[in-house]
Amino acid sequence: MQNLLLIIASFLLCSISKVQNDSGIEDKEISEKQSDIDLDAAIKRFSKAITFETVSIKPGEANVPELLKFRKYLESAYPLMHSTPWIERQIVGNLSLVYTIMPLIEDDDKFTNKPWILQAHLDVVLPTDPHKWDANPFGGQIIYKPKNLHKILYDPKTNKSSKKFSVDDIDNKDYYLYGRGTIDSKHIIMSIMEAIEHMIRQGLRPNTKKLILSFGHDEEVGGMNGARKIVSLLGNTYSFPPKGGKPIDFLLDEGLTVVKDVLPRNTKLAPVCVSEKYVMNVNISVESIGGHSSLSGKENAISILSGAVTKIQTKEFPSFLDA
Ligand SMILES: [Zn+2]
Repeated sequence: MQNLLLIIASFLLCSISKVQNDSGIEDKEISEKQSDIDLDAAIKRFSKAITFETVSIKPGEANVPELLKFRKYLESAYPLMHSTPWIERQIVGNLSLVYTIMPLIEDDDKFTNKPWILQAHLDVVLPTDPHKWDANPFGGQIIYKPKNLHKILYDPKTNKSSKKFSVDDIDNKDYYLYGRGTIDSKHIIMSIMEAIEHMIRQGLRPNTKKLILSFGHDEEVGGMNGARKIVSLLGNTYSFPPKGGKPIDFLLDEGLTVVKDVLPRNTKLAPVCVSEKYVMNVNISVESIGGHSSLSGKENAISILSGAVTKIQTKEFPSFLDA
């Protein structure tokens, strides 16, 4: 999918603000319309994030210069997050980022002070057919596109905008932000950063809830240098019960986006994902007796192999929820 309704950014901003209110953060009602969230600026920061070509191609082959540029951009776009003494940032595997947001009251009881982990990844997949896209996959442009019209409203490269975005634009499905990472998963990173920066600007801090943000840099190629090393780091202190150590309350990884036009009456749908499939690579080889093609017989290497492939394709693996 190559486009994203602008609604996603604002929805996540809104939902994260609400979640924080339930999490030991001072109980102060924040709604999107009442707060001083500058939606125009938030959307422009999001579109700028799309311009960094943080592509993963193979394990161990990260686009290091672009990941470093993106890190620098996050530092400049969210200055409070990067200067507040109760937020610690650790760089893991040279390129992945872990933020720990310390609560006001540190409770040493390992069962009452269980942290939340919010997770996303910095890298994206290479666009295979960029010429088939309606816009540059790394342009980060916001485009107004009703039928037969393609008008660029904001281009982060020139920082020229012909429109200020507001809450009223959220339901306009003719506005799109194009690019790699818009739904996998820079939208999550930017939403979390916006929410935390906003929280600090409001003078808020979690009372008792510790938040950990985990942003790997090579998720698209297996996460061996990012997520795996983050697990080693956090696994020294935290774990899911019953493995010992300090338990964590929950871990929220990337999921699906809020979609419209799937259900009747234009209802918005926010799917809740509780598990994820992984890939399996299988090598199959068949040996058979050779011979003249005019005397190939009923069964040969190709027919045996295709039978095996069909069996794999028709036999689904069982689904289960425990990791
Ligand atoms: Zn992803």
